[in-house]
Amino acid sequence: ADTLRRFGLDKQHNAAQLALTTPEDKQNKEKLMRLYWVSNDIQSKLPFRLDEAALDSVVGKYKVGSILNAPQTTAQTPAMWNQVVKTIQDVSIKHLGIPTVYGLDQMHGTTYSTGGTLFPGAINMAATFNRDLVYKMGEIVAYETRACNVPWIYGPCIDLGRMQAWSRQYESFGEDVFLSSEMGAAALRGMQGDNPNHIDAYHVAGCLKHYFAYGAPYNGLDRSPARLSYEELREKQFAPFLRGIREGALSIMTNSSNVNGVKGTVNREFITGWLKEGLGWDGMVVTDWGDIDGAVTSDRVVPTAKEAIRLAINAGVDMMMVPSQFTYNGLLKELVEEGGVSMERIDDAVRRILRLKHRVGLFEQPNTFAKDYPKFGSEEFAAYSRQAALESIVLLKNDSVDSQSRLLPIKQGTRLLVCGPNANSMRTLNGGWSYTWQGDGADREEFTGHFNTIYEALRNKFGSNHVTLVEGVSYDSKRWAMDHADNIGDAVAAAADNDYVIVCIGENTYAETRGNIADINLSTNQKNLVKALAATGKPIILVLNESRGRAISDIEPLAKAVVHTMLPGNYGGDALAELLAGNENFSGRLPYTYSAQPNAMVNYDYKASEVRETISGVYDYNAKTYEQWWFGAGMSYTTYTYSNLRADKNSFTKDDVLTFTVDVKNTGAMAGKETVMLYASDLYASLMPDNRRLRGFEKIVLAPDESKTVTFRIKASDLAFMGTGKKWTLEAGEFNIACGDQSVSIHCTEDYTWEEENIPDN
Ligand code: BGC
Repeated sequence: ADTLRRFGLDKQHNAAQLALTTPEDKQNKEKLMRLYWVSNDIQSKLPFRLDEAALDSVVGKYKVGSILNAPQTTAQTPAMWNQVVKTIQDVSIKHLGIPTVYGLDQMHGTTYSTGGTLFPGAINMAATFNRDLVYKMGEIVAYETRACNVPWIYGPCIDLGRMQAWSRQYESFGEDVFLSSEMGAAALRGMQGDNPNHIDAYHVAGCLKHYFAYGAPYNGLDRSPARLSYEELREKQFAPFLRGIREGALSIMTNSSNVNGVKGTVNREFITGWLKEGLGWDGMVVTDWGDIDGAVTSDRVVPTAKEAIRLAINAGVDMMMVPSQFTYNGLLKELVEEGGVSMERIDDAVRRILRLKHRVGLFEQPNTFAKDYPKFGSEEFAAYSRQAALESIVLLKNDSVDSQSRLLPIKQGTRLLVCGPNANSMRTLNGGWSYTWQGDGADREEFTGHFNTIYEALRNKFGSNHVTLVEGVSYDSKRWAMDHADNIGDAVAAAADNDYVIVCIGENTYAETRGNIADINLSTNQKNLVKALAATGKPIILVLNESRGRAISDIEPLAKAVVHTMLPGNYGGDALAELLAGNENFSGRLPYTYSAQPNAMVNYDYKASEVRETISGVYDYNAKTYEQWWFGAGMSYTTYTYSNLRADKNSFTKDDVLTFTVDVKNTGAMAGKETVMLYASDLYASLMPDNRRLRGFEKIVLAPDESKTVTFRIKASDLAFMGTGKKWTLEAGEFNIACGDQSVSIHCTEDYTWEEENIPDN
């Protein structure tokens, strides 16, 4: 408190947050306050410097408390970041007596600095099922962000990716509540370190986003409505956030979209009710980009920004991101004077902002306080990204070629034709939010240095005279969603001289609403490419390099092997080559259900009646109606045998802890890592039960012939569901517990209902 008083904090209120951008960023130019990085030399784009006069006038006049983002047009080194943030701190302290809190989207590692460590996308990190790697990613991105003099990251993103068409599915940890909660907690712990109240020079404040149910637009389009029952909201969508709060999350970003008609940013029940009052959470709530305007324009809650500000601040928002007009502070002042917003609410918001600044150490030292950061972009850090790529790529199909062997691994000496628009691209390996917002920066070596595309990595692995590239289809250089069937004929002709064809298909990069699509099917051009190549009779290996599963049920049967890379990052090409060559074993598992059909998207924990036979004129029992592959799918080059699943008790009551053990043996010839998953099914329930729910997972390493016993401890209350009357419900009856091909039955002896402690049920 003394430190805060020294800075004269009773005098300033700073609830607005500005975005830093460049004059070249035309699309946003009008929306943003004019606070630019300007270049001395537009030709070379270097070096950039801050427009100090604009900064001085804007901060002086509008009392800006926070700045975010990065210019999209140039690579930024830590030295540049340090200088820019230091200048901002000097100006902020001069005008406000309070340091600014700079925030950055570091969605999958160090997104916005040259030479830092970029990881595979969050969806891949989930596919590793490896908590330690996700923790490391959090720790490394925090270290490298601090090295840039920035103490706040907008992440982890813990929206549940339960809508496969959603353009931000890849930023999530997938569709499952338990997996997302575990991975979100691991990432957050890595970022914030052991003491969130006092973040040190190597950690940052995290920001859980987007609170909440942002990942469930019913039509799959980003920032469009979600319609969800209270039970689904409470039991599934809220759970990863609750976990994050319990792990000490210092800030939360609101959901730009709306749930059951209420925009996330003005949802008083969720923000003040559940978070602040219900959980007694003392962290800070920031809106998402331009949400005040969005309440007027896209969601049409109220006709004026002033009314939107009143609703948002009264709902519990503490900081407004990117006010599009300079009027916000004035409007807020008017609202206080007119009694529309209470002074207590302002004090509370300011206190929360200052608390965040205090917790990240800005009042002790406005600029980063470590001497240096020698590990920035180090080989030590890169090794974790490489490992994550290896552990995240999922083998979904590997047919036999004869009684002895399967198509993969590929033997040295095999002649490979590599096709498809994703075969020779770095940006598609990284996805959106890679160096630049839409991910195109990853194709520019001035941002990235050199990494290998899939084609380059295969050439390195199998020899350049054994690997031929004919893309056949390529992406449009301007419109991300379009592709062109340039030379399918050339690809077909080249197949004759090769043994196998590796077709790298999927999507180009995108972020947010620019990734909205009307059809989840893979593009017609890419399907035609696969069909034409399959007609040559050469064995086809499909490499699915995409941010979400694009439906391929018609071409999947044409392939002998299918590998889903998702967004494996800068080391994804190399990792794939190692895996295809059999130097490394596959261990990734699908973190979401890959749907087979556009109009039948399901999650693995569906309600029984969601998945039933459909009649489309003629019964086709072989047609895949729902899933192409379920959540959790993934093969390897070895075999694992499960045995002896046992429970420590056959019957249980609500307060019991249940212990399950299972023996897992590597019965194949290659060492590997196996994710052992434990699922629980409530067989009958007063609200239709989920088919199955993941309740535990452990990733273990097994040499050939080695066995390990894995133990899971689960609270009986974690088998409950959100029942009628907004009460957690555990009903007497049978539960099935499954692990691998094993299962045991256990019985709950009585009916129980209870309310969640400290979360209001109104
Ligand atoms: C995104 C957020 C992001 C913010 C700041 C928004 O459009 O929804 O995830 O943190 O921009 O860049």
